[in-house]
Amino acid sequence: MAGGARGKGGDGSYPPICRWWLITVMPGLVPGIHVLARSPEKGAWMAGTSPAMTTRRHLVKSIPIAAIAMAITIISPAHAQSLPGGFVYLRDIDPSIIQDIRYATSNNFVGRPLAGYGAGECVVKREVGLRLKAVQQELAAQNLSLKMFDCYRPARASLDMVKWSQNGHETAAERRYNPNIPKTELFRLGYIASRSQHSTGAALDLTLVDLKADNSAKYDPSKTYADCTAPVAMRAPEGSVDMGTGYDCTDAKGHTAVTSINPEQRTWRKRLVAAMARQGFVNYSKEWWHFSLPGAGGAAYDFPIQPRIR
Ligand SMILES: [Zn+2]
Repeated sequence: MAGGARGKGGDGSYPPICRWWLITVMPGLVPGIHVLARSPEKGAWMAGTSPAMTTRRHLVKSIPIAAIAMAITIISPAHAQSLPGGFVYLRDIDPSIIQDIRYATSNNFVGRPLAGYGAGECVVKREVGLRLKAVQQELAAQNLSLKMFDCYRPARASLDMVKWSQNGHETAAERRYNPNIPKTELFRLGYIASRSQHSTGAALDLTLVDLKADNSAKYDPSKTYADCTAPVAMRAPEGSVDMGTGYDCTDAKGHTAVTSINPEQRTWRKRLVAAMARQGFVNYSKEWWHFSLPGAGGAAYDFPIQPRIR
Protein backbone atom coordinates (compact mmCIF):
# COMPACT_ATOMS: atom_id res chain seq x y z
CA MET A 1 0.00 0.00 0.00
CA ALA A 2 1.40 3.33 -1.02
CA GLY A 3 1.49 6.12 1.51
CA GLY A 4 -0.51 9.30 0.96
CA ALA A 5 0.01 12.34 3.08
CA ARG A 6 -2.41 15.04 2.11
CA GLY A 7 -5.91 14.08 3.18
CA LYS A 8 -5.51 13.29 6.83
CA GLY A 9 -2.28 15.03 7.52
CA GLY A 10 -0.29 16.89 4.89
CA ASP A 11 3.14 16.59 3.42
CA GLY A 12 5.07 18.85 5.75
CA SER A 13 6.42 21.01 2.93
CA TYR A 14 4.76 24.25 3.91
CA PRO A 15 6.11 27.34 5.65
CA PRO A 16 5.77 27.89 9.40
CA ILE A 17 2.38 28.54 10.92
CA CYS A 18 1.10 32.11 10.87
CA ARG A 19 -0.83 33.54 13.78
CA TRP A 20 -4.01 35.48 13.41
CA TRP A 21 -2.53 38.36 15.34
CA LEU A 22 -5.19 40.87 14.52
CA ILE A 23 -7.98 38.96 16.25
CA THR A 24 -6.18 36.96 18.93
CA VAL A 25 -3.62 39.53 20.05
CA MET A 26 -4.76 42.98 19.09
CA PRO A 27 -7.70 43.10 21.55
CA GLY A 28 -5.22 42.22 24.29
CA LEU A 29 -3.15 45.26 23.31
CA VAL A 30 -6.14 47.57 23.59
CA PRO A 31 -7.41 47.24 27.18
CA GLY A 32 -10.36 49.56 26.58
CA ILE A 33 -11.74 47.12 24.05
CA HIS A 34 -11.59 44.28 26.53
CA VAL A 35 -13.29 46.32 29.21
CA LEU A 36 -16.04 47.33 26.84
CA ALA A 37 -16.52 43.81 25.62
CA ARG A 38 -16.29 41.88 28.84
CA SER A 39 -17.50 44.00 31.73
CA PRO A 40 -21.23 44.53 31.53
CA GLU A 41 -21.27 46.22 34.94
CA LYS A 42 -19.26 49.04 33.41
CA GLY A 43 -22.39 50.08 31.56
CA ALA A 44 -22.54 52.94 34.09
CA TRP A 45 -19.53 54.47 32.37
CA MET A 46 -21.57 56.08 29.72
CA ALA A 47 -23.84 57.91 32.13
CA GLY A 48 -20.92 59.85 33.63
CA THR A 49 -23.09 61.87 36.00
CA SER A 50 -22.77 60.02 39.29
CA PRO A 51 -21.37 62.00 42.20
CA ALA A 52 -19.37 58.86 43.06
CA MET A 53 -17.62 58.94 39.72
CA THR A 54 -14.22 57.27 40.05
CA THR A 55 -10.91 58.25 38.57
CA ARG A 56 -11.36 55.39 36.11
CA ARG A 57 -14.65 56.78 34.97
CA HIS A 58 -12.98 60.13 34.35
CA LEU A 59 -10.40 58.28 32.32
CA VAL A 60 -13.00 56.44 30.32
CA LYS A 61 -14.99 59.60 29.78
CA SER A 62 -11.92 61.09 28.19
CA ILE A 63 -11.62 58.35 25.57
CA PRO A 64 -12.35 59.98 22.25
CA ILE A 65 -15.64 59.04 20.66
CA ALA A 66 -13.72 57.69 17.67
CA ALA A 67 -11.87 55.18 19.87
CA ILE A 68 -15.13 53.90 21.32
CA ALA A 69 -16.59 53.61 17.85
CA MET A 70 -13.55 51.62 16.80
CA ALA A 71 -13.95 49.26 19.76
CA ILE A 72 -17.61 48.70 18.98
CA THR A 73 -16.69 48.01 15.37
CA ILE A 74 -14.09 45.44 16.39
CA ILE A 75 -16.41 43.51 18.68
CA SER A 76 -19.44 43.65 16.40
CA PRO A 77 -20.54 40.35 14.81
CA ALA A 78 -20.07 41.66 11.28
CA HIS A 79 -16.46 42.55 11.93
CA ALA A 80 -15.83 39.22 13.68
CA GLN A 81 -16.55 37.60 10.31
CA SER A 82 -13.47 39.13 8.76
CA LEU A 83 -11.03 36.36 8.00
CA PRO A 84 -7.28 36.76 7.56
CA GLY A 85 -5.14 35.98 4.56
CA GLY A 86 -7.80 36.40 1.89
CA PHE A 87 -9.97 33.62 3.30
CA VAL A 88 -13.75 33.73 2.94
CA TYR A 89 -16.71 31.56 3.86
CA LEU A 90 -17.59 29.50 0.79
CA ARG A 91 -21.27 29.98 1.66
CA ASP A 92 -20.82 33.70 0.95
CA ILE A 93 -19.60 32.92 -2.54
CA ASP A 94 -21.88 30.01 -3.46
CA PRO A 95 -24.54 28.87 -0.97
CA SER A 96 -25.68 26.14 -3.37
CA ILE A 97 -22.54 24.05 -2.78
CA ILE A 98 -23.40 21.35 -0.24
CA GLN A 99 -21.21 21.23 2.86
CA ASP A 100 -20.59 18.39 5.29
CA ILE A 101 -17.44 19.44 7.12
CA ARG A 102 -16.72 16.15 8.80
CA TYR A 103 -13.92 17.28 11.11
CA ALA A 104 -16.41 19.60 12.81
CA THR A 105 -18.49 16.53 13.74
CA SER A 106 -17.95 13.12 15.33
CA ASN A 107 -18.46 11.45 11.96
CA ASN A 108 -14.78 11.18 11.06
CA PHE A 109 -11.82 8.89 11.66
CA VAL A 110 -11.02 10.50 15.01
CA GLY A 111 -14.60 10.11 16.25
CA ARG A 112 -14.94 13.66 17.60
CA PRO A 113 -14.63 17.23 16.36
CA LEU A 114 -11.02 18.25 15.77
CA ALA A 115 -9.35 21.21 17.48
CA GLY A 116 -10.08 24.47 15.69
CA TYR A 117 -13.33 23.32 14.07
CA GLY A 118 -15.73 25.54 15.98
CA ALA A 119 -18.22 25.39 13.11
CA GLY A 120 -19.01 23.19 10.13
CA GLU A 121 -18.14 25.87 7.59
CA CYS A 122 -16.03 25.57 4.48
CA VAL A 123 -13.47 28.38 4.57
CA VAL A 124 -11.42 28.93 1.42
CA LYS A 125 -9.16 31.44 -0.27
CA ARG A 126 -11.39 33.75 -2.33
CA GLU A 127 -9.83 32.61 -5.61
CA VAL A 128 -10.49 28.98 -4.69
CA GLY A 129 -14.09 29.83 -3.82
CA LEU A 130 -14.70 31.60 -7.12
CA ARG A 131 -13.41 28.61 -9.05
CA LEU A 132 -15.54 26.21 -7.01
CA LYS A 133 -18.53 28.37 -7.92
CA ALA A 134 -17.65 27.96 -11.60
CA VAL A 135 -17.39 24.18 -11.17
CA GLN A 136 -20.75 24.18 -9.40
CA GLN A 137 -22.41 26.13 -12.20
CA GLU A 138 -21.26 23.58 -14.74
CA LEU A 139 -22.41 20.69 -12.54
CA ALA A 140 -25.81 22.26 -11.89
CA ALA A 141 -26.64 21.88 -15.56
CA GLN A 142 -26.17 18.12 -15.07
CA ASN A 143 -28.26 17.97 -11.88
CA LEU A 144 -25.10 17.48 -9.85
CA SER A 145 -23.58 19.40 -6.96
CA LEU A 146 -20.27 19.57 -5.20
CA LYS A 147 -20.20 18.47 -1.58
CA MET A 148 -17.36 19.77 0.59
CA PHE A 149 -15.89 17.49 3.24
CA ASP A 150 -12.95 19.68 4.26
CA CYS A 151 -11.52 23.01 3.17
CA TYR A 152 -9.23 25.27 5.23
CA ARG A 153 -7.94 23.26 8.18
CA PRO A 154 -6.52 25.09 11.21
CA ALA A 155 -2.94 23.93 11.86
CA ARG A 156 -3.93 22.91 15.37
CA ALA A 157 -6.29 20.31 13.86
CA SER A 158 -3.37 18.55 12.20
CA LEU A 159 -1.53 18.48 15.52
CA ASP A 160 -4.70 17.06 17.07
CA MET A 161 -4.62 14.26 14.48
CA VAL A 162 -1.02 13.47 15.34
CA LYS A 163 -1.89 13.34 19.04
CA TRP A 164 -4.83 11.06 18.28
CA SER A 165 -2.68 8.68 16.21
CA GLN A 166 -0.36 8.25 19.16
CA ASN A 167 -2.94 7.86 21.92
CA GLY A 168 -2.35 4.13 22.27
CA HIS A 169 -5.79 2.71 21.54
CA GLU A 170 -7.96 2.12 18.52
CA THR A 171 -11.72 1.58 18.28
CA ALA A 172 -13.64 -0.41 15.68
CA ALA A 173 -15.28 2.80 14.44
CA GLU A 174 -11.86 4.38 13.89
CA ARG A 175 -10.64 1.29 12.08
CA ARG A 176 -13.39 1.67 9.48
CA TYR A 177 -11.24 4.36 7.86
CA ASN A 178 -8.01 2.34 7.72
CA PRO A 179 -9.08 -1.32 7.70
CA ASN A 180 -5.73 -2.58 6.45
CA ILE A 181 -3.31 -0.34 8.34
CA PRO A 182 -3.03 -0.23 12.13
CA LYS A 183 -3.61 3.22 13.53
CA THR A 184 -0.16 3.16 15.09
CA GLU A 185 1.37 3.05 11.59
CA LEU A 186 -0.55 6.00 10.15
CA PHE A 187 1.88 8.63 11.38
CA ARG A 188 5.03 6.66 10.51
CA LEU A 189 3.76 5.96 6.99
CA GLY A 190 2.93 9.60 6.41
CA TYR A 191 -0.85 9.31 6.29
CA ILE A 192 -0.99 11.67 9.24
CA ALA A 193 1.51 14.53 9.47
CA SER A 194 1.84 17.65 11.54
CA ARG A 195 1.36 20.00 8.58
CA SER A 196 -1.30 19.98 5.91
CA GLN A 197 -1.74 21.68 2.57
CA HIS A 198 -5.29 22.35 3.78
CA SER A 199 -3.92 24.88 6.28
CA THR A 200 -2.68 27.05 3.40
CA GLY A 201 -6.15 27.27 1.90
CA ALA A 202 -5.09 25.62 -1.36
CA ALA A 203 -6.56 22.16 -0.71
CA LEU A 204 -10.07 20.75 -0.60
CA ASP A 205 -11.72 17.40 0.08
CA LEU A 206 -14.96 16.96 -1.80
CA THR A 207 -17.27 14.69 -3.74
CA LEU A 208 -20.30 14.80 -6.04
CA VAL A 209 -23.97 14.65 -5.18
CA ASP A 210 -26.55 13.46 -7.70
CA LEU A 211 -29.42 15.86 -7.05
CA LYS A 212 -31.90 13.42 -8.64
CA ALA A 213 -30.97 10.59 -6.27
CA ASP A 214 -32.33 9.84 -2.80
CA ASN A 215 -29.63 11.25 -0.53
CA SER A 216 -31.70 11.16 2.63
CA ALA A 217 -29.84 8.38 4.49
CA LYS A 218 -28.04 9.91 7.46
CA TYR A 219 -25.06 8.68 9.44
CA ASP A 220 -26.22 7.05 12.68
CA PRO A 221 -23.49 6.81 15.35
CA SER A 222 -25.37 4.01 17.10
CA LYS A 223 -25.15 1.76 14.02
CA THR A 224 -22.29 -0.55 13.09
CA TYR A 225 -21.12 0.04 9.54
CA ALA A 226 -18.73 -1.90 7.34
CA ASP A 227 -15.35 -0.34 6.58
CA CYS A 228 -14.76 2.34 3.97
CA THR A 229 -13.81 -0.18 1.26
CA ALA A 230 -17.06 -2.17 1.49
CA PRO A 231 -19.98 -1.90 -1.00
CA VAL A 232 -21.82 1.39 -0.63
CA ALA A 233 -24.93 -0.15 0.93
CA MET A 234 -22.84 -1.46 3.82
CA ARG A 235 -20.74 1.66 4.41
CA ALA A 236 -21.73 4.66 6.52
CA PRO A 237 -23.99 6.81 4.29
CA GLU A 238 -22.45 10.01 2.94
CA GLY A 239 -25.33 11.43 0.87
CA SER A 240 -23.26 11.43 -2.30
CA VAL A 241 -22.51 9.32 -5.37
CA ASP A 242 -20.70 6.02 -4.95
CA MET A 243 -17.02 6.71 -5.56
CA GLY A 244 -16.05 3.15 -4.60
CA THR A 245 -14.90 4.01 -1.08
CA GLY A 246 -16.00 6.34 1.67
CA TYR A 247 -14.29 9.67 2.30
CA ASP A 248 -10.90 9.58 4.04
CA CYS A 249 -10.46 5.90 3.26
CA THR A 250 -6.79 5.13 3.86
CA ASP A 251 -6.58 2.26 1.42
CA ALA A 252 -5.35 1.48 -2.10
CA LYS A 253 -9.01 1.43 -3.17
CA GLY A 254 -9.08 5.16 -2.46
CA HIS A 255 -6.41 5.81 -5.11
CA THR A 256 -8.15 7.76 -7.84
CA ALA A 257 -7.20 5.54 -10.79
CA VAL A 258 -7.48 2.17 -9.04
CA THR A 259 -8.97 -0.56 -11.24
CA SER A 260 -10.56 -2.64 -8.47
CA ILE A 261 -13.75 -0.57 -8.50
CA ASN A 262 -16.71 -0.95 -10.85
CA PRO A 263 -17.15 1.05 -14.10
CA GLU A 264 -19.82 3.31 -12.66
CA GLN A 265 -17.59 4.24 -9.72
CA ARG A 266 -14.70 4.90 -12.09
CA THR A 267 -16.95 7.13 -14.19
CA TRP A 268 -17.95 9.22 -11.17
CA ARG A 269 -14.32 9.73 -10.22
CA LYS A 270 -13.48 10.76 -13.77
CA ARG A 271 -16.37 13.22 -13.90
CA LEU A 272 -15.26 14.82 -10.64
CA VAL A 273 -11.61 15.05 -11.69
CA ALA A 274 -12.56 16.46 -15.13
CA ALA A 275 -14.96 19.07 -13.74
CA MET A 276 -12.39 20.25 -11.20
CA ALA A 277 -9.56 20.22 -13.76
CA ARG A 278 -11.51 22.56 -16.05
CA GLN A 279 -11.10 25.20 -13.32
CA GLY A 280 -7.45 24.39 -12.69
CA PHE A 281 -7.76 22.03 -9.72
CA VAL A 282 -5.38 19.08 -9.50
CA ASN A 283 -6.35 15.78 -7.94
CA TYR A 284 -4.05 13.89 -5.58
CA SER A 285 -3.59 10.45 -7.11
CA LYS A 286 -3.89 8.56 -3.83
CA GLU A 287 -7.11 10.20 -2.68
CA TRP A 288 -10.01 10.60 -5.08
CA TRP A 289 -11.48 13.31 -2.80
CA HIS A 290 -8.43 15.59 -2.45
CA PHE A 291 -7.83 18.51 -4.82
CA SER A 292 -5.61 21.54 -4.74
CA LEU A 293 -5.28 24.72 -6.74
CA PRO A 294 -1.65 25.29 -7.70
CA GLY A 295 -0.45 28.71 -6.65
CA ALA A 296 -3.36 29.40 -4.30
CA GLY A 297 -1.55 28.41 -1.11
CA GLY A 298 1.30 29.99 0.78
CA ALA A 299 1.74 30.22 4.51
CA ALA A 300 -0.16 27.86 6.78
CA TYR A 301 -2.73 29.41 9.13
CA ASP A 302 -4.10 28.46 12.51
CA PHE A 303 -7.14 30.66 13.07
CA PRO A 304 -10.11 28.61 14.29
CA ILE A 305 -13.20 28.12 12.13
CA GLN A 306 -16.04 30.00 13.76
CA PRO A 307 -19.76 30.17 12.98
CA ARG A 308 -20.69 32.36 10.06
CA ILE A 309 -23.05 35.11 11.16
CA ARG A 310 -25.41 36.65 8.63
ZN1 LIG B 1 -7.39 16.59 1.65
